[in-house]
Amino acid sequence: MRTHEHHHHDHDHHHDHDHHSPPQPDDKVHSYYQILGTAVKELLIEKGVVTADEVRRMVERRDSITPANGAKVVARAWMDPEYRARLLKDANAAVKEFGIEMPTTHLVAVENTENLHNVVVCTLCSCYPRDLLGLPPSWYKSKAYRARVVSEPRAVLAEFGTQLADNVEVRVHDSTADMRYLVVPRRPGGTDGMSEDALAAIITRDTMIGVAVVEPMRN
Ligand code: FE
Repeated sequence: MRTHEHHHHDHDHHHDHDHHSPPQPDDKVHSYYQILGTAVKELLIEKGVVTADEVRRMVERRDSITPANGAKVVARAWMDPEYRARLLKDANAAVKEFGIEMPTTHLVAVENTENLHNVVVCTLCSCYPRDLLGLPPSWYKSKAYRARVVSEPRAVLAEFGTQLADNVEVRVHDSTADMRYLVVPRRPGGTDGMSEDALAAIITRDTMIGVAVVEPMRN
């Protein structure tokens, strides 16, 4: 059994500004994990395990993945009932139809309905469908979100501006190194004549994590 992933990508730059002088461009304090990451990278390059070019290409590939990838998947599921069924049955295979490969993790698509709202967390660290949605937002990695969305999901959702009716069940999914979730939000009203591309454009990252709902279109 694989151990739980602990990728603490702490990219919150903690600036300690001296307010008596303008901040210098290199005055940021690197976190423990930034220093560790740099040290490991330099060692791997020095030992010939990877080249600097390979590292650069991996980072470039990682940075090119955005929530727009997930939005295309959801928009297709809204438009095509057969694709929706395939996505809910085997999400790994369904996203592969868009060229998105998730070879090492099991992706599960969970669909919001009139009576059920799904929201995703990683209570232990920051597991997230990075191959589908890119890097997780900083709040997703925060201790407050990870603890509170489990104990008081409705309150957390309300803080994101998401008010759910009392009869809607809230289901919280805890991600692991082996299991990632994609929330398929509900298709809102006023979107009947919209194209798949236009639908994808209104599907945001937060609706696919489940802290938000896709807003109805207003005329
Ligand atoms: Fe995690």
